[in-house]
Amino acid sequence: MTLANSWEHKIGQALSALRLDSIKNKILVLALLATLIPTVTTAVFSYAQNKRALTEKLNEELQSVGTQTAREMDLWIKERFFDARVFTGSFEVYDNLASIPQGGAGGRVARSRLNDYINAVHQRYTDSYAELLVLNPDGSVVTSSADSSLGVTIPDNWDASLRAGTAMLGEPYWDDAQQDIVAVLAEPINPPDGRYLGMLAMRLDFATVEALLQRFAPGSSGRAFLVTGEGVVVASSQMTASEGAAVTLDHAIRETLRASNDAPVEYDDGIDTAVLGTMEAIPGSDWAVVAEVPRDEAYAPVARLRNVTLLLVFSLLVIVGLIAYALGVFIVRPLDRLATGVGEVAAGDFSVDLPVSGGGEVGYLTQVFNNMVGQLRSGREALDQAAEELREQNRELERLSITDGLTQLTNRRWAMQEFENEIERARRLEHPFALLMLDVDHFKKFNDTYGHLEGDAVLQGVGTALKDATRGIDTPARYGGEEFMILLPECDQGGALEAARRIQSRLAQETFKGGKITMSVGVSAYPEHGTDTSALIAAADAALYRAKKRGRDRIVAAGDTAAPATSGKRKTAKKGATKRKATTKKQSPKK
Ligand code: GH3
Ligand code: MG
Ligand code: MG
Repeated sequence: MTLANSWEHKIGQALSALRLDSIKNKILVLALLATLIPTVTTAVFSYAQNKRALTEKLNEELQSVGTQTAREMDLWIKERFFDARVFTGSFEVYDNLASIPQGGAGGRVARSRLNDYINAVHQRYTDSYAELLVLNPDGSVVTSSADSSLGVTIPDNWDASLRAGTAMLGEPYWDDAQQDIVAVLAEPINPPDGRYLGMLAMRLDFATVEALLQRFAPGSSGRAFLVTGEGVVVASSQMTASEGAAVTLDHAIRETLRASNDAPVEYDDGIDTAVLGTMEAIPGSDWAVVAEVPRDEAYAPVARLRNVTLLLVFSLLVIVGLIAYALGVFIVRPLDRLATGVGEVAAGDFSVDLPVSGGGEVGYLTQVFNNMVGQLRSGREALDQAAEELREQNRELERLSITDGLTQLTNRRWAMQEFENEIERARRLEHPFALLMLDVDHFKKFNDTYGHLEGDAVLQGVGTALKDATRGIDTPARYGGEEFMILLPECDQGGALEAARRIQSRLAQETFKGGKITMSVGVSAYPEHGTDTSALIAAADAALYRAKKRGRDRIVAAGDTAAPATSGKRKTAKKGATKRKATTKKQSPKK
């Protein structure tokens, strides 16, 4: 086995194991693979690229939300500190507060004026402050903008800072009593002489912050939070304060968000199990803005792209599969026809003529096949004709081999063979059989007188006469020269004599150029005159000799050994010979 054969064999075996023997299936698989490989490769690349591009875009969007919101928040906080400084810088505040005795109920007018001032200021800034309060250094309320103040808690550790003139912003917390997030900003109240009279406490309202967050929230379902360093949600673009308070971004998530700057972090924020988010710290505080989008929402375009791609690939496979199948059938059908045609030709049917549909290799093959079958067909016709001619020639050769050329009678060789057979048959069946030996009288003289050609014509005429005057089962033959022999099966001596007479009278009707001719006849019969060819011929010959002796043109039977008569022309030598038994049995024509 050569190298090429061995790998061809192996591939063939593998294809066979996969049931891919047929060309149709091979075409189908090839087409599907040719579709599947590039489309799936392209789809995978484009999916990956799309996802990366989307992630980058998302990151940019979230970062930008974070940065802008953080800047706005920074500004907002600074504005609050600025407001506090402006409010406490008014003489209405420190003058009136200075006039109110601490720990007592006095200073009613000053208290009222202070309250008027605070209310007036609060009126102008209702969306930023829930309540404005003036507190004594010990934290007790002097006056408040609220009708019934719940007061605020000032941490003990603020005292030193406030006394030193530093404003303080408290950590926001959920206040159950107020059902709200509470954050307090405290500003020391100092008259121009620098004394520390108390503080202005402002309970911040995060409504503006919420509006701010809503303005910057990413996408349609994205959210933005303001979270404290403790993870408390102070304000949110989507939730109410109480909802926000229920959500806590735990420490680990915040740390991851803080550490990741260039990609969104995926986490469970308590609202959605999977969100992508970024965090941006607000400068000058430990607060931060978190911007996030639910992951499914963020990657919806990628999922849509994936679904559309899968649908496209599937549709392509179906379409290509159908086309490949049709193509397979189209290619294989002529091949099937060819295979069937080859089988028919192999079985010897050369009438096959396949339809040639289209060009290409299969069309060419079909054409070549048809030509080949055509040539085989005409070759076989020529062969059949040659065989028939040969048979005809053989028949002619056979006829010639047993026929005498001049007289068209059976020749001597064949007659002798027939003679043997007839004797054998007569012996077996115990049937009679007779033999005539005939010789043209004075033929030498005829030849000498009229020439050999005329002599040949006489011999031909004798042949015709012998044939005419004998039965189908008799065998008249040329024995040699102007001598003839006739085999008479189923015939005894009487019948033979009768046949001899018939021959003589038939010959008497022939007229040749030199006039009439006559023949002498010797008759012998089986078994009386012999039981084999030589004995019967010798007996007939002897009788013929006697007929010549007795004057020619006569018939002499073998048993007739009487002295020659002076006149006995055309008379049977033996009167009362047994009548020939006529046979009606049909015989096949002589060969
Ligand atoms: P008889 O009556 O005694 O038979 O006399 P005959 O002349 O016939 O006898 P013979 O045997 O002497 O002569 C036979 C002649 O037949 C001799 C030969 O020239 C002639 N002969 C033999 N064969 C042919 C032949 O094929 N064609 C022709 N034209 N003559 C033949
Ligand atoms: Mg002779
Ligand atoms: Mg003769």
